Amino acid sequence: MNAALSVRSIVKRFGAFTALDGVSLDVVPGSIFGLLGPNGSGKSTLIRICCGSLRPTSGQVLVLGLDATRDAEAVRRRIGYMSQAFSLYRDLSVAENLQFFGRVYGVPNRDARIAEIVERLHIAPYRDRYAQNLSGGWRQRLALGCALLHRPDVLFLDEPTAGIDPVARRELWNLLFELAADGTTLFVTTHYMDEAERCDRVAYVHYGKILVDGTPDELKARPDLTLPNQRRVLVRGPNATHVLRALSAMKDIHEATVFGAEVHAVVANELSDAELVARLDRAGLARAQVEGAEPNLEDVFVTMARRNRV
Ligand code: ADP
Ligand code: MG
Repeated sequence: MNAALSVRSIVKRFGAFTALDGVSLDVVPGSIFGLLGPNGSGKSTLIRICCGSLRPTSGQVLVLGLDATRDAEAVRRRIGYMSQAFSLYRDLSVAENLQFFGRVYGVPNRDARIAEIVERLHIAPYRDRYAQNLSGGWRQRLALGCALLHRPDVLFLDEPTAGIDPVARRELWNLLFELAADGTTLFVTTHYMDEAERCDRVAYVHYGKILVDGTPDELKARPDLTLPNQRRVLVRGPNATHVLRALSAMKDIHEATVFGAEVHAVVANELSDAELVARLDRAGLARAQVEGAEPNLEDVFVTMARRNRV
């Protein structure tokens, strides 16, 4: 199948600084692609290039087969873009913002389309509220509504859930799933691992370079995440912080981090579960349990980022 979005060897330099250093990726139509990476890694720059608002230094982006630089105008008609910055008019109401963006995009049958969006995003109760008085979640929902008015086939969302509460986050994701189910292709940047898990495919960009790209299951199953002489374990103890402290003082422990009540660690192969339990016992942690563990997505990204320290 032809990709809805195809990013091919994109390089972007700002003066002597290389923000994107040969980025390539493909997004299948109707799927959700998640892009993660530290601040300053080039996520927003990539989105701006894909939307045709920034020229790459070299490389090519095809959106629905159209060249994002040469056919920027045609691309703009087929895409929606929710920028990282607050893009609404604060002193216009929800309804007025939709009207305004509807006019900007030249949306046909504007009132009917706005009514459809209001219904779909469940924003009717807030129609007359000024955008500046909406909570973060509702603001993002309105911004999504504005980006959807002209029925884009590909939607770019730059950190759409940054700083909004978990309920609003889940509701926004439910809307994204509905859009994808209807055939819209979504390209989303985020810092949240649970959101990465929800994507059909994720990539991790680290200072301009893609370090990994695949489905969440593929990434977690990568054989190169632990070195051949290491293995991953999960340690449960009465107190995860005490476990972490004890592990950090031991030899043969390459890495340890707390996830809720558990500690995930990478240890030397020759350190058995039983020996680890015995060591923890000697360290005063009598009831610790140890078992082999699979990496989660955060483990994948942390491992790859550490290996590629700049
Ligand atoms: P991210 O969205 O991943 O946080 P950005 O794409 O915003 O990263 O930025 C990537 C890098 O490019 C940063 O170091 C940023 O300062 C730099 N950058 C972005 N836009 C410009 C610009 N117009 N001029 C100079 N540097 C820029
Ligand atoms: Mg950004």
